[in-house]
Amino acid sequence: MRTEVLVVGGGISGSTLAYLLSKKGFSVTVAEKRREIGYPHHCSGILGPEALRELVHLSQEWVVGEIRWATFTSPGGITLKVEGDLARVVDRSEMDRETWELALSQGALGMTSSPFKRLLSRGEAVVGDDSVEFDLLVGADGALSTVAREAGFPSMGFEMGLHKIVEAAKMDGYEVRVRRGSRFSWVQPWRGGRKVGALGAPGDPLVRWIEGMSDERASYYEGGLIPVGPRRRFWRDNVALVGDAAGQLKPISRGGVMMGVRGSKYLADCLEDMDQLPETLKCYESTWWRRNRREISLGWAVRKFLESLSDREVDRVFSIIAKEGLLEDGFQVDRQSAPLRLDRLPKILKLASVSIGSAASALAEALKYMMR
Ligand SMILES: Cc1cc2nc3c(=O)[nH]c(=O)nc-3n(C[C@H](O)[C@H](O)[C@H](O)COP(=O)(O)OP(=O)(O)OC[C@H]3O[C@@H](n4cnc5c(N)ncnc54)[C@H](O)[C@@H]3O)c2cc1C
Repeated sequence: MRTEVLVVGGGISGSTLAYLLSKKGFSVTVAEKRREIGYPHHCSGILGPEALRELVHLSQEWVVGEIRWATFTSPGGITLKVEGDLARVVDRSEMDRETWELALSQGALGMTSSPFKRLLSRGEAVVGDDSVEFDLLVGADGALSTVAREAGFPSMGFEMGLHKIVEAAKMDGYEVRVRRGSRFSWVQPWRGGRKVGALGAPGDPLVRWIEGMSDERASYYEGGLIPVGPRRRFWRDNVALVGDAAGQLKPISRGGVMMGVRGSKYLADCLEDMDQLPETLKCYESTWWRRNRREISLGWAVRKFLESLSDREVDRVFSIIAKEGLLEDGFQVDRQSAPLRLDRLPKILKLASVSIGSAASALAEALKYMMR
């Protein structure tokens, strides 16, 4: 068979792209390896107001909780609290399934139980038992992207996120505990209960902690790989990557839905003519970086800073944030670098003074992204 655009992966990034390109009149085939879209489920589904606005489709039926406060506790027990209408919790399985259906309703051809296996040539791939010819191939196939590997993109590092659904009283907030550096565990609302999650490297004591957590209250266990951070390049030849496959996520929380949906939107906006693919793909990559560079570089610097501190230094950072009121005014789920404003430079320098060496190397990391 033949298609103009072959999208691999029917997650939120792939279905968003398939929907937008079909709407523009391109012939689109989206191949998903799973039998059922959205399952197994692997995400906390915490989306701030900006992320919700980015979605091509939002139904109140899949909003399963509200986040009206958040606490962040350091390893030594110093707690920061923010309040407000911070975020919603969505059921990712339902969101992915309805977005897939939306793409199909616009004319995209959807194939489930159809894993992308390998590239036969620049314009042909094996999907399931068939061969598919295409002009543009898009890998929206998540952190362990087969498309990226087959097309020769460099490999990425990973972390792991895991959670369990537990029966517990309803909550309307989000409790985060910084465990080590920038790794954390959390408790969040979920239908009729809560989710308890943890983020760490595979084999990390934190991940073992949740794996070994008392199972008595847990009804379901889920998780997945999370890219370490954005790839530098999102395309080569006639292959583009979006979403987790491209490492498009917020560096501090590692939330990837908003950044991946943006990736799909920029790619769809840039694609006008199949004969202009290099220009299209350059436009896609440069738009993503231009619009998200501040968040990526500053978020990355904060993450690197935290990762190079001892637990006691993280406690000191939390004490300064509490004393200077750095989080209460300006905290946003979607723009986690927002409190780092220039008018707060004296306060930010106090944070940096906890470890000048760590602050300098974090700044150097941020500059790499700013100047790319
Ligand atoms: C525990 C955990 C909690 C998270 N919490 C949040 C959160 O609260 N907020 C947030 O914004 N983000 C969160 N994330 C990140 C978020 O889940 C991802 O960023 C998001 O799912 C990326 O969407 P995607 O469509 O790019 O990739 P995916 O959702 O991974 O979808 C990729 C799709 O490609 C398919 N696929 C893979 N390989 C192939 C192949 N060879 N052929 C065909 N199909 C293939 C997969 O089956 C899958 O359906 C969390 C992640 C984890 C692990």
